[in-house]
This record gives sequence, C-alpha cells and structure tokens, in this order.
Amino acid sequence: MKQTIPSRDLTRQRAQRDFRLKADPTCSRCGETKSVDDFPKVGVDYWCTACHAANAVYLYHKRRKALSKSELQELRGKINKRQNARRKQLLAGMSPDALAKFRKSINSYNVTQRAEIRDLVYKSYGGYRCACCGETEPKFLSIDHINNDGAKHKREFRIRTGEQMYRWLVRNKFPQGFQILCMNCQWGKRNNCGICPHQSGNGVTTIPKGSTAKRPEAQRSS
Ligand SMILES: [Zn+2]
Ligand SMILES: [Zn+2]
Ligand SMILES: [Zn+2]
Repeated sequence: MKQTIPSRDLTRQRAQRDFRLKADPTCSRCGETKSVDDFPKVGVDYWCTACHAANAVYLYHKRRKALSKSELQELRGKINKRQNARRKQLLAGMSPDALAKFRKSINSYNVTQRAEIRDLVYKSYGGYRCACCGETEPKFLSIDHINNDGAKHKREFRIRTGEQMYRWLVRNKFPQGFQILCMNCQWGKRNNCGICPHQSGNGVTTIPKGSTAKRPEAQRSS
C-alpha cells in the first residue's frame, strides 16, 4: 500500500512568523535588523531575502561540485530540455503580435547585454585601441593572446565565440596575457612568427614569450 504523508498545516507557523517579523525584523542568519519588506512574503523561517539568495548560490555550487563531469552534463541536458519545453509552451500560447513583441524585446536585451560585456572587457584592456598600431575602429579590433597561445587556451576552456571569450575574461577578473589588437596586426603577428611587422621594423629585439620567431636579431626575453 502506498502511503502518503499528510502535508503539514503551516498556517499557524506562518502567522507566528509574520507577527514576530513585524515586531523585530532581524534575520536569524546574518543577524541584521532589516525591514519586513526585506523578507520573503511567505515562509516559516526568519531568513532575509538576501540570505535566501546567498544560500541558494551556496547550495548550487555545493551540489555541482559533488557531481562528476558526466553527471553534470546529464543534469544540464535535463535542465535544457525542461527550459526548452517551457519556452515552447510559453510561445505557443502567444498571439502573433505578442510573439513579435517578445522576440524583439529579447533581441534588444541580448544586444545591449553583449555590448555591455564587450565594453567592460575593452575598458579593462586599455579601451578600443589597437595596442600595436593604434587603430580605433571597434569593428577591426579583437582580443589577442600576447603569448600566441590562443588555440590552447580556447581548447582548454571550450571558448568558441568572441562572446564566450569576453565572458571568460570577466569571470577571471581580466588576467594578464591579453591585449587589444586590430585584425591587421593579429594577422601580421601570425604570419611573422609571433611579432607584428610594425614592431619588427622599429628595431625591437625582444619577442614575446612563447613566440616562435626565428629572426636572428630577435632575442628571447626572459
Ligand atoms: Zn540575512
Ligand atoms: Zn593594429
Ligand atoms: Zn601592428
């Protein structure tokens, strides 16, 4: 026989909580005295909303850490499937007008968000300006791996798009080893054994670490 556990009646506890929070809105987790609005509207505990959020993040990372790579992949697959189904359902219930409006708003949100992240990254690496030739047209610029180890880096962190690259840089607090270069200079660097021809003409004799330059005048900096 299948037994069902009767659900607890929490009405009394909720009422008690609301009463206590009104008199003294102190969070039992962080100990801060806040206002009633800083607590979830319903519930039976005395944690503020910020503490609930912090705990959710903590639990997420804790659970994630305990999963193996394949388990994590499986979980991601499940979540994706569920989200796709939910999205499909949401879109199916919309009128053509509402749908068009929804699509437009999502698009513009994505565009602004992407631009913000890109701006942040460029600002952190000296702005929209080629570190070699000074080109300032953003459409010509991109992130360059100073030590020419871009392929390895991208493989290691599964970075496939510029967008993913920007996000990686933000997540890792803008590490050293990256610079802004225009495509011209990146191309030059690639075809000149790791040094842009602009630089080799200027009597520069040091080459970046990891460079495969074979020019006799180029001395490996150590
Ligand atoms: Zn709190
Ligand atoms: Zn350049
Ligand atoms: Zn150059």
